[in-house]
Amino acid sequence: MIANSNFQALSENYLFAEVGRRVKDYRLQHPEADIIRMDIGDVTLPIIPPVVEAMQRAATEMAHSKTFRGYGPEQGYDFLRSAIAAYDYVSRGVDIREDEIFVSDGAKSDIANLTDLFAPGNKVGITNPVYPVYRDSNIMAGRTEENGLLTLIECDATSGYRPLLPGKELDIIYLCSPNNPTGNTMTAAELKEWVDYALTNDSLIVYDSAYEAFIRDSDLPRSIYEIEGARKVAIEVRSFSKTAGFTGLRCGYTVVPKELKVKYADGTEVELRKLWLRRQTTKFNGASYVIQRGAEAVYSPEGRELIRKNINYYLNNAQILGSAFRKMGFQTLERVNSPYIWIKDTEGRTSWVLFDLLLSKCHLSVTPGVGFGSAGEGCIRLTGFNTLENTLTAAERLEKTL
Ligand SMILES: *Cc1c(COP(=O)(O)O)cnc(C)c1O
Repeated sequence: MIANSNFQALSENYLFAEVGRRVKDYRLQHPEADIIRMDIGDVTLPIIPPVVEAMQRAATEMAHSKTFRGYGPEQGYDFLRSAIAAYDYVSRGVDIREDEIFVSDGAKSDIANLTDLFAPGNKVGITNPVYPVYRDSNIMAGRTEENGLLTLIECDATSGYRPLLPGKELDIIYLCSPNNPTGNTMTAAELKEWVDYALTNDSLIVYDSAYEAFIRDSDLPRSIYEIEGARKVAIEVRSFSKTAGFTGLRCGYTVVPKELKVKYADGTEVELRKLWLRRQTTKFNGASYVIQRGAEAVYSPEGRELIRKNINYYLNNAQILGSAFRKMGFQTLERVNSPYIWIKDTEGRTSWVLFDLLLSKCHLSVTPGVGFGSAGEGCIRLTGFNTLENTLTAAERLEKTL
C-alpha cells in the first residue's frame, strides 16, 4: 500500500499541544499559580434537563421490542428534520424544507465530507485566519497554495475582519459567520456581495453557521438563505455543539437546497442535494436515535428558553473580556455576537509573546492567533466558555496587571 501523499502537505497541528505544554511548564515552576483557561474551545455548561429527559425516554424505548429502533434514515428522523425546518427556517421567513436538511453527527465531519462532492481541480478559497478544518480537508483532497488550488482570502484588521471579494474566480468559498476565531459576524449586505459573486461565477459557498444562535443583533442575518439567490449557490452547515452543548453528544446538520444545481465535467447538470444524499447513504448510517430525540427537545418551548439563557451566559462572559481588553488599550470588535473575543495588539508583539505575557503576568491561558493562519499573528483568541466567576477574576487581573 502507498500512503496518500496529500497528507505530506499538511502542517503539524502543534497549536493546542504547544499551548498545553507551556501551561504545564508554567505550572511546574509556579505550583501556586491559579491559571484560568481562556483558550478553551469547548462549552462547559451541562446539557439542559428537557434534552436529558428526552434522551432518557428514547433510551427506555430501546429496551422494549415494540419501541426498539435499529438503523434509522441516513438523512435523519422526520421528527428532527421537521423541527429544524420549522424553528430554524420557516419561523424566520426562510423557505427551507425537511428534504433539504441532512442530520449528521456534527458539523466538522459534514464540512470535511463535503469535499467528496467536488472535482479535484476546483479552486477553493478560505479566509486567513481560518477554522483549520476547511484548510486541512482540502489539503487532504489535494488542494494546496503551492498548486494554486487553495487561495487565502485575507481577513484581518485592515478589512475589519471581513472577507473581501477576491480578484480572481474561485469555485468554492468557505465562509464562517459568526466567525471562529475572529468573532466577526457578516452583515446582510456583505453576505449579499458573496452570494452575487457566487451567482456570477458559478461558485459554491459553504456557509458555516455553527454559532448562529449567538447572534443577538436583530439586523444581522442568521442564515445565508435570508439573502436572495442563496438557495442557488450555498450549502449551510450548523451544529448543536455550541448551541446546546452537544460537543460530546454529537449532532449537527447540513442544508442543501433543491435549486443548488451543478455540472459534471461532461456538462450534465445535477442537483448537488442528490450527490450529498448518495454520499451520505453510502458512507454514513445516520446519527443515533437517542441523540436525535435530545436534539428535538432543544426546540421545545422550555428547551429554547434554557438554551437562550446558556448562550447569554457565554455572551456575557465574552463581553466582560472584550471590555477589559479595550480598557487596556487593545483592539477588539465591539459587537459581540459570538463566544470568541479576538484581540489585536497595538504594540506589534507576536501572538506567542502575548501568550507568555498573559500567562506569566495574569495567569491566563489564551489561544495564539497565529495558530489560525499567518494573518492571526499579533492576535490572541479568548472564549466566553469559562465560568462567570473565572471570567470576572480574569478581567480583574487584566485591569490590575496590564
Ligand atoms: C465548533 C465548530 C463547529 C462544530 O463542530 P461539531 O463537529 O458540530 O462539534 C463547526 N464549525 C466551527 C467554526 C466550529 O468552531
